[in-house]
Amino acid sequence: MFILFGTRGITFGGKAGTFHCPRCGPDTTYLHRTVRRFFTLYFIPVIPLDKMCEFIECANCKGKFTTDVLAFDPEQERKRAEGEYYEHIKRIMILTSLIEGEPSGEQLDAVRHVCTLLTGSAPSPAEMEREIALASKATLDLPAYASHYLGGNLSDHGKENVMRAALTVANADGDMTACEEAQILELSVALGMTQAHYRGIASEHTESRSEAGVDPNEWDELE
Ligand SMILES: [Zn+2]
Repeated sequence: MFILFGTRGITFGGKAGTFHCPRCGPDTTYLHRTVRRFFTLYFIPVIPLDKMCEFIECANCKGKFTTDVLAFDPEQERKRAEGEYYEHIKRIMILTSLIEGEPSGEQLDAVRHVCTLLTGSAPSPAEMEREIALASKATLDLPAYASHYLGGNLSDHGKENVMRAALTVANADGDMTACEEAQILELSVALGMTQAHYRGIASEHTESRSEAGVDPNEWDELE
């Protein structure tokens, strides 16, 4: 007669809640599972030992995830990314206004106007001043900024909005100068746009420009 003993991991139910399951979507029930090692005798768990691991199990698809899945909030993540994107558009516009040296009043008005269209509020005068001071000292010019911070990460629609923002500011005080045109063309290259795509946006922008310099309809499609 010999005694069979060993250890074995046993999974416990744990508390339930709702989470955004990466497979099933929002408001799905989960179980917070704990696996505990047991000392077994004849394959029967007898003495609980240490905790081996914890995981989140989806009650619907039975998928198993690490516990940080509970912190994932796609809506919050989307808002964060959107806020960051608007910050970049604001900086793109400030850099555009500085291509010819001092930005004109019309150009700064255009920056505020586009920010309002995109986010519902204009930057305060203090924020504008701070942004201009920062951008004046920056070592990155407009295309370099775009390739560093945006690169090929944007959707076509995202790129188009960046181009519209730059074109709006460059055109705000009359026609674009050769320097502005050259930098904006480089901006489209930095964003990974084809020349045909850029030309399309530029001519569409020129055609739809209202008396005020900005056509709000251009921005309607923003996701
Ligand atoms: Zn699931």
